[in-house]
Amino acid sequence: MTSSTKRRVSYFYNPEVGNFHFGPNHPMKPHRLSLTHNLILNYGLYKKMSVYKSREANLYDLKQFHSEDYIDFLSRVSPSTLHLWQEASLSRFNVGDDCPIFDGLYDFCKIYSGGSIEAAAKINGDLADIAVNWSGGLHHARKDEASGFCFINDIVLAILELLKYHPRVLYIDIDVHHGDAVQEAFYITDRVMTVSFHKYGDSFFPGTGEVSEIGDKKGKYYSVNVPLLDGIDDQTYTSIFKPVIQKTIEFYRPSAIVLQCGADSLACDRLGCFNLSIKGHGECVSYVKSFGLPTLVLGGGGYTVKNVARCWTYETSLLLDTDISNDLPFNDYFEYFGPDFQLHPDIVARFDNQNSKQYVDDIKMRVLENLRSLQHAPSVQMDRLPPDLSYFELQQEQEDEEEEEKIDVRIISGAKTDDREYYEDEFDNDRDT
Ligand SMILES: [Zn+2]
Repeated sequence: MTSSTKRRVSYFYNPEVGNFHFGPNHPMKPHRLSLTHNLILNYGLYKKMSVYKSREANLYDLKQFHSEDYIDFLSRVSPSTLHLWQEASLSRFNVGDDCPIFDGLYDFCKIYSGGSIEAAAKINGDLADIAVNWSGGLHHARKDEASGFCFINDIVLAILELLKYHPRVLYIDIDVHHGDAVQEAFYITDRVMTVSFHKYGDSFFPGTGEVSEIGDKKGKYYSVNVPLLDGIDDQTYTSIFKPVIQKTIEFYRPSAIVLQCGADSLACDRLGCFNLSIKGHGECVSYVKSFGLPTLVLGGGGYTVKNVARCWTYETSLLLDTDISNDLPFNDYFEYFGPDFQLHPDIVARFDNQNSKQYVDDIKMRVLENLRSLQHAPSVQMDRLPPDLSYFELQQEQEDEEEEEKIDVRIISGAKTDDREYYEDEFDNDRDT
């Protein structure tokens, strides 16, 4: 069980996902997923994993967590019918500036969620050791409302899927923002342990994630929060990430892990305030992988598009135990990566590291103290098999494998430049350093 052990990796992607558009100047760019996928292809990483075109989630899937009236709203609202809805409905479901109603919104939700659910099912069927969906990881969406650019919480849906077969699921979140809605969904259960590392303070979104949020009732001590300050660097981050994750896994003994790899914790993110390099971010992914547990790897935030693509491509290579060149291969979006055209460009810190050794030691001590309150891993009686999945029948596996090669070709040829993204107005700072 070492990091050099080769693992079976399944990768889920739908070429449509990069074509949605939140609107001019909105920092969330689904187009980043096209860049990521294209870079992964041009590094040849697709040859080392099973590549699947992810299917769309259906109504039944979405309702496993979300309320019926919220899903009904998402399925019917559109920019052209927005004026027909009462202001009360729009505010009730929290749509507006951060979570805008854009063309194809519901399709977008079904696509990114379908990938995460299907990836979880792949792990449940023991058909993959690691399953990746960079389109997923939207950790702020609540049962009946949108939040922080997230509409459907694919993470909660995927964890619910894993719980059909796994007694204990560990959720780890390295996005710069607190993984609030995942924590909230599992706050009173010991079946899921959530651990979030994030910026906390100065009214930073979403405003939750203090050390004292530890879970409640049966879930007491099964929520872990590591609040951090501006400018945290690789060394400081890993000095708290590794011991916390090591102790969590030792005490909780999860049978599966879900890792949310939000790339807004990287230095120079358009919205973030941390100072992680792509290597530092990736070191967390490698560390989680080193435990050798079945792992679902998801995306999340990340608003400096070119660095998101670099980061998730690099992390794909780490999951595959494959070294890739620092010189980027030519790809459909090559011009985005100038002037250096490197996988690991030099990063100039925008924020001083406010996390003193004393601050980090204190947080670490409090978190580890809470972990010691976990006497032992809870046992769960798994006395009956769950119902079959709605759209993903394991019996179809063989058929899928036969189709795989065809699917590979389709996805591999699917990437193209999205003119709307590339030629956005001058206020859009995607292409800034
Ligand atoms: Zn975020």
